[in-house]
Amino acid sequence: MEEQNLVYLLDGKIYINLTNKCTNECVFCIRTLKDDVCGTNLWLKNDIVTAKEVIEQLKTLVKKENESGSRCEPELTCEEQVKQGEHNDSEVKVCEANFTGAKEIVFCGYGEPTLKLEVLKEVAQFIKNNYKNIKIRLNTNGHANFVYKRNIIPELVGLVDEISVSLNAPTEELYKELSQPNVVCENILAEVKDFIKKSVDAGIETTASVVDGYKNYDINIKECENIALEAGAKFRVRKWLKEGY
Ligand code: SF4
Repeated sequence: MEEQNLVYLLDGKIYINLTNKCTNECVFCIRTLKDDVCGTNLWLKNDIVTAKEVIEQLKTLVKKENESGSRCEPELTCEEQVKQGEHNDSEVKVCEANFTGAKEIVFCGYGEPTLKLEVLKEVAQFIKNNYKNIKIRLNTNGHANFVYKRNIIPELVGLVDEISVSLNAPTEELYKELSQPNVVCENILAEVKDFIKKSVDAGIETTASVVDGYKNYDINIKECENIALEAGAKFRVRKWLKEGY
């Protein structure tokens, strides 16, 4: 069976594509326009993605990158890490692939990564255990606490270094128009804002983002920025790009 693209490299960053499911159907979502990001088809033939599959693809990519010469020197050699008890012998083989030129791994892709929470956590733990110098970011729609009916953020502490949450709009009405959530929730924007606040409170570097420039939607950017800053998060405006990148 043809391998699905669960891991891909783009502009010096490694992206992890865990699912095509999402609790939003954003009007500007790139998935509605094309099948690929810079030539990597991100539609998955099946949604039964395991951590093992993702880790295998990640290791292959890292190995390939290192062989192509973009290797960065790890802070410690494999032997030093074993001596310090950070790795056991069986992990040295993986550790030897340490590390690619990439400085960041992003859970993103054509869907909402937190819908595969257990896979996400297992893969992030693998990265933390084996690729010491790389930063892990999660791009999310911020619905996870609503979906799981519990605060999942403490489960991400120590695994994810940065969370970027799609705030999308300053009001519930505009949020629903732009994001078209497919979950039944009276005030889903309040859930997103609460997710941002809880992420900040957990000590995770948090950014709230807005996509600007799609068709004639008039988004009050200042209001969005205030929401982010009041929650203690950073704020980022992403210009809508036809190619998604
Ligand atoms: S939250 Fe992201 S993946 Fe989901 S529909 Fe919106 S842009 Fe697409």
